[in-house]
Formats: sequence, C-alpha cells, structure tokens
Amino acid sequence: MKKLPMLINGQWVGEDRPGGHPVYNPSTGEQIAAITAGTKEDVDAAVAAARAAFESPEWQRVRPYERGQLLTELAREIRSDLDRWAELECADVGKPISQARADAEAAARYFEFYGGAADKVTGDTIPIEAGLLNATVLEPVGVTAHIIPWNYPLQIIARSVGAAIATGNAVIVKSAEDTPLTAHALAEWFSASWLPAGIFQHITGLGQEVGGPLAAHPGIGHVTFTGSVPTGISVMKAAAANVVPVTLELGGKSPNIVFADADLAKALDGVTKAIIQNAGQTCSAGSRLLVEESVKEEFLARLAEKFASLTIGPGKDDPDVGPILNDKQYRQIMDRIEEAKKTGRVVAGGEAVSPPGGGNGRYIRPTIIDGLAPDDPAAQEEIFGPVLTVFSFRDEAEAVALANGTDYGLVAGIWTKDIDVAHAAAARLKAGQVFINSYGAAGGVQMPFGGYKKSGIGREKGFVALRNYVQIKNIAIKFGD
Ligand code: NAD
Repeated sequence: MKKLPMLINGQWVGEDRPGGHPVYNPSTGEQIAAITAGTKEDVDAAVAAARAAFESPEWQRVRPYERGQLLTELAREIRSDLDRWAELECADVGKPISQARADAEAAARYFEFYGGAADKVTGDTIPIEAGLLNATVLEPVGVTAHIIPWNYPLQIIARSVGAAIATGNAVIVKSAEDTPLTAHALAEWFSASWLPAGIFQHITGLGQEVGGPLAAHPGIGHVTFTGSVPTGISVMKAAAANVVPVTLELGGKSPNIVFADADLAKALDGVTKAIIQNAGQTCSAGSRLLVEESVKEEFLARLAEKFASLTIGPGKDDPDVGPILNDKQYRQIMDRIEEAKKTGRVVAGGEAVSPPGGGNGRYIRPTIIDGLAPDDPAAQEEIFGPVLTVFSFRDEAEAVALANGTDYGLVAGIWTKDIDVAHAAAARLKAGQVFINSYGAAGGVQMPFGGYKKSGIGREKGFVALRNYVQIKNIAIKFGD
C-alpha cells in the first residue's frame, strides 16, 4: 500500500516510517493509501524551514507578479488535467465525480484569482499635514499554517494557500488524515516548481499530534483553520498563547427560507441541491427548510417525491448522492436520525442503503424530518449528512427568528419574488452569506465567505482574504523644514 510522504524543506519525509493512518475510498471501503504519522518534531522542522525560506534573499527577491505567475501556472496545470484531480478527490472523499470536477475547477479558479491579485495588494497614502508623507506598506506575516478538513480538501487548500503565497508567505499545509490525496498532489507540483524549498510544505498525521503543535507553534504568524467548532476553539486557544491571529471557518446549520410567492419549482431544486451536495457533508449545507405555512404541505409532498427519485451510489458513477465518509461519520448521522424519529415525522428517507454494487461503503438515503421542536438537537446541531429538518412560519418576522435561532450563522437562502421581503429578511439574517433565489451561487471564488456566531471568525475568498496574510506597517516621512 502506498504510504504518502510529507514534504518538509524540499525533502520527501516519512515513507519508510512504521505506522501511519490508512486512507479509504468511501465509495467502496477499500484502503487506497496511507499517510505518514507526523510528529511534533516534524512540525518544528517544517516551521524552521519555512522561517528560513521566508527570510532568504532568494524568496525576498521574488517579485509579486512572479508569485502570481506561479499560481496562474498551477491553475493551468489543474485545468489541463482536470480529470486526474477530480478522480483523486472522488476516490478520497467519495463525492460524485461531477462534484469533484467542479471542485477541481474551483481550485484552479482560486489559484488564478489570487495569482492575478498578487501584484495588486497595495497600501494607502494618508493625508496628514504639509511636509509629512504618510503611507501604509503591506508586509507578509511570514509563516502561515493551513489546517484542512476532509470534505473539500482541494478547494479549501487552494483558497487559503493561493492568498497566502500571493502575499509572499511561506505556507505549511496540514491535510486531514482521511483525505490527503490532492494535498499530496499539490505538494508534488510545488516541489517540482521553482519555488524555494520551505515555501510550500505539507505535513500529515492526526489532529492532536500534528495540527495541535502546528497551531501552538510560536514561529507561525497566522493560522487558517477549517473544521469543526470544538477543534476551532482549541486552535484559537493555542494560537492565542502566542498572540497569533486566526481565521476560523467552522460549521453551519444553514436555513433555506421559502416564501409562498416563490417560484416553487426553482426553490425545490435549490433546497434539494443544498442538502445533497457531497451527501450533506458540507459546511454550508442547507440543512434546515423554513417554509411558509400556506404552501408547506404542497412543497413537502413535492420535495419528498424528488428525494425518492435521487440516485445513490459510488462517486465514480456520478449519482445524485454519494457515500458517507466512513463508519464513524455514518453512525453519528444514523444516531441523529433515530433520535429525531422519536418526536419527528420522517417525510423521506430515514434509513441506510446497502452499498450499491457491493463493497463496504456507507450510504444514507436523503432524509426529511418534519415536526421537531425548533430547539431539538437535530434542528440545532450540525448533522453533516443528507438530513433536512423542516419548520413552517406565518410571516417574515417568524421566518427570520427561526433562521437566526441556532448558534451558527454561515449561509442562508431566501426564496421569494417580493424584493422588499427579500431585502428586509437579508438585512436581518445573522449569516455571513445570504443567497436570494439561489443557493451557493456557483461558489464564486470572488465572494467573501465566512460565518457569524459559532460559524467562524474572519473571511476567506475574494480580495478581502488577502488581508488575512499581511501585516500593515505605517511609515511617516517628514521632509522640508
Ligand atoms: P475537524 O475539526 O475534526 O478536523 C479538521 C482538521 O483539524 C483536520 O485536519 C484535523 O486533523 C485537525 N485537527 C483535529 N484536532 C486538532 C487539534 N486539536 N488541533 C489542531 N488541529 C486539529 O473537522 P472535520 O471533521 O475534518 O471537518 C468537518 C467540519 O468542518 C464540519 O464542522 C464542517 O462544517 C467544517 N467545515 C467548515 C468549512 C467552512 O469553510 N466553514 C468548510 C468545510 C468544513
């Protein structure tokens, strides 16, 4: 079985070490690789190499547009070999191949976007008084850490690493132990590029053994963490001990709000896609449906019909719904469904499906549960599976109160033809991103993304994310008498 080495200081490290963590194809349950079990010593070595590489004259001499050109080249490489990148992501995460292809295209777009932005990150001149030229200079923070979750590894690495390299930092990626394949492929590409050793490094291993020491390392200048709320809190605490800033992209329990006047066919499609993408294992999954009382029964009946027609199967067959990552994740989702059944009414799904075509993959039929109390754990906590809970509302105020009634605030969808209602609701929603008559909006790389409340701190994507990776230095120059 192929053991993936780490990339530290330009060297491939750890292939010959005993132990490691197996990597399975979620569609079949087959082992497809293993990762090197990194250690705190590996983290120390990577941070030292990153610091040396960052400070080297070789890197400091590289012009911003040259960093941009490198990222643009990577975007071209991904596009020219889109099927290979998609197949890796599909085998690793299990997602339907067309979704994996869309992820690879999005990764190319991130590298292209930040490649183009590299020489456009500018400071200001600030008018103070005659004889004083005051300016801000944006400097890279130095060494940046990127801790990655298992559900969208390629896109999530691309969005933060693209911005960090564009602004001149040395980056260390810690991939998720279950889905390291595209991170490794990126490491191979960077290691073969002209980038000095130590500017892009990839370390692997378990969260507590590698992610923890990385977040706590005093040599790091910024931590970007994408993952669950409890881990995000522990990363933030570790970074706080060194007064290091963090960007946290955490979970969600995002609502789709359907008003009676909406184009119900479009809403039906949007609500369905929002919960089945990557089998619901998506931070921004639309996992709560809030529907106006007068159309609730009609809408639910049509939704149940649509859910029953969805195809389920291995990622490579490009079904509507792929497998669940692993047995642990599957059990957590099924426990939640069984618990919710005690007080709720199952409108669709609610059960496991035998692995289509055999094998040991774990599959769950897309599920709709109605009739829960709004404070039921299944309606409050992230399930991270294809499970939609449903509530009805009588007016916009009640819809907004329900939508805002969780600890999360990542994304929200509003479906209505009434522009006044749409804008009024959007203004009152506590969510980092609001979609009106769409959901996900094709994942535009230019749109700032991040959460209110426990969904996170800071924003990724778009120009604004470049600010995560720079320090502002103010310089005042006195001239004349
Ligand atoms: P997780 O928190 O278990 O793990 C995320 C990463 O952190 C992994 O690389 C893991 O090895 C590492 N890690 C674990 N313990 C650590 C520790 N003590 N210190 C430092 N690092 C540690 O999350 P997951 O299960 O991989 O991902 C699912 C979660 O991620 C969900 O809650 C989902 O909503 C969230 N997510 C958010 C976004 C977003 O952009 N907001 C995107 C994708 C996923």
